Amino acid sequence: MDTHAELRASVRALCAPYGADYWREQDEKDGFPERFLEAFTAAGFTGALIPEAYGGSGLGLVEGAVILEEVHASGADGGVCHAAMNVMGALIHSGGEVLKARWLPQVANGAVKFLAFAVTEADAGTDTSRIRTTARRVDDHYVLNGTKLWISRALETDLMLVLVRTAPRQTDKRMNGLSVLLVDMREARGNGVEIGRVATMVNHNSTEILFDNLKVPTEHLIGGEGQGFRCIMQGMNAERILIGAECIGDARWFLDKAAAYARERRVFDRPIGQNQAVQLPLAQAHARTYAARLVVEQAARLFDEGKPCGVEANMAKLLASQASWEAGDACLKVFGGMGFARELGVERKFRESRLYAVAPLSNDLALTYIAERELGLPKSF
Ligand SMILES: Cc1cc2nc3c(=O)[nH]c(=O)nc-3n(C[C@H](O)[C@H](O)[C@H](O)COP(=O)(O)OP(=O)(O)OC[C@H]3O[C@@H](n4cnc5c(N)ncnc54)[C@H](O)[C@@H]3O)c2cc1C
Repeated sequence: MDTHAELRASVRALCAPYGADYWREQDEKDGFPERFLEAFTAAGFTGALIPEAYGGSGLGLVEGAVILEEVHASGADGGVCHAAMNVMGALIHSGGEVLKARWLPQVANGAVKFLAFAVTEADAGTDTSRIRTTARRVDDHYVLNGTKLWISRALETDLMLVLVRTAPRQTDKRMNGLSVLLVDMREARGNGVEIGRVATMVNHNSTEILFDNLKVPTEHLIGGEGQGFRCIMQGMNAERILIGAECIGDARWFLDKAAAYARERRVFDRPIGQNQAVQLPLAQAHARTYAARLVVEQAARLFDEGKPCGVEANMAKLLASQASWEAGDACLKVFGGMGFARELGVERKFRESRLYAVAPLSNDLALTYIAERELGLPKSF
């Protein structure tokens, strides 16, 4: 039984005015969905996971997953919602009282946009320990130098988290010496931060960021100096579970569209959906989506209960991203040539859903996690 019918209905109502045309326009111009984000925040969803004491709704990850699944099931490109709801996780879980009290209420009510987390660099993607952006402490500031790549929404956000090296990499403890800093981008742009757009297959407002002696107050350190990896680790499970929920939403959208078209489109005097070659891939994708959704829900429940959920979070992200890809492929097949027409949104969703096999963590790495933790196999890298 779905215990969140009301929540789902309210997300659907919020998304309804933003149809295929709205998202196609954003996609075509690499636009930022400002109006949609405003509506999302006004409805209280940006603050969904922020504790009530800081002006949020204090909901759990189960509800967060429901919200993001429905956003994606509406046909939206929900990357901005994922960011709006989840990027502040490191501040909530590892930030000091002063920082939380100062920023979280403003994030919850939309006065301040908190939409970016800069980890990846050109020479450090999957191997985070290789990042070379440094933060040197000088009196009451850190001074940042380095370059980040693939950072989504750095031009649109007010606040951004940045993972930096505050101590050199050690071979035996390679994740030590990383730290997380909160950067006020409104002050930083043009004063030590230069940002360039990166053209991409999907509209993620992707950027490259150059830090050139950017000064960040030491009080903007989150989670202790050198403890940055531990700090972002806490958020990784939540992120993977939420991405899994988004993939389930994408899969549902593909299957709804495909089934409707397969019932209506007539070729050789009968609906194409009457052919088993059309039916079976859709039924297969539906079954995989159903199974993946159970894993996403289970992972979210474990997270909310404070129980270990690393394996479940990785399985959720892996299985859900595979389910959405399979559903997308089946959907494109059903639509034939029309699947390539921009106006329907199928090709856009198809491109967007492929991202989740790669980011924020590639499925290869999710599998290595499962191999090590569940099967006791030796670490492979
Ligand atoms: C649209 C978009 C938005 C993004 N937004 C952000 C953002 O906002 N912030 C941010 O910090 N980053 C962001 N990223 C970066 C993203 O997190 C990385 O692309 C991702 O982590 C993979 O890193 P990489 O691209 O360097 O791949 P690499 O690390 O170069 O890996 C390339 C391939 O090799 C495989 N591989 C590498 N090592 C192994 C191994 N040991 N075993 C098996 N397979 C392996 C990987 O699985 C992958 O398939 C974004 C990326 C994209 C495309």
